[in-house]
Amino acid sequence: MSIFCIGRNYVEHAKELGNEVPTSAVIFMKPDAALLPAGENFTIPSFTNDLHFEGELVLRVSNKAKNLTEKHPEGIHVLDYCDAITVGIDFTARDVQNKLKEKGLPWEKAKAFDNAAVLGAWHPLTAEILSGPIHYTLAKNGVTVQTGDSSLMIFSLDKILAGITEYFTLHPGDIIYTGTPAGVGPTAKGDLFEGFFEGQRVFSVKVNP
Ligand code: ZN
Repeated sequence: MSIFCIGRNYVEHAKELGNEVPTSAVIFMKPDAALLPAGENFTIPSFTNDLHFEGELVLRVSNKAKNLTEKHPEGIHVLDYCDAITVGIDFTARDVQNKLKEKGLPWEKAKAFDNAAVLGAWHPLTAEILSGPIHYTLAKNGVTVQTGDSSLMIFSLDKILAGITEYFTLHPGDIIYTGTPAGVGPTAKGDLFEGFFEGQRVFSVKVNP
């Protein structure tokens, strides 16, 4: 199973970190060991002093896909290739990432470490959901810290599938983190994170004290 992630997919988030708005999708990956097992607490790794939460919509791949732009010049139907959706967290060691970015190095140490990916319970993907906009929120200690709206994505879900499959083959079971809206911020020991998809709670994760 592969975990693909999209970076800088919302203008306001790119701005809050001082990044340029990308003209093609920023793609990075996490190994499957980065998935936090359901129901387990998260532990802040010792190599960071600035761990950020990034709440994101997450898609599940249901069919093999490659070069979708060539295959569907008329447009890609997300439902042909994905069957479920939820909310997750792309935990990011921001201090580590900033150092790597300065040197032009890959981001894995900052984003692909063990348990850096929180995944909510899946909702079946439907045409109605995809007709959007899709709303989701992340709460920290009971307070909403991020509000997501899929209509504000720079690369919509079909464009994300196009961007990934230009370079990589998607397989059933692969998952795609679609980028975070504005409002990312620090994570402290003892924090409680809850993700909501269209108002329904899909995960609850405690950060170990
Ligand atoms: Zn992210």
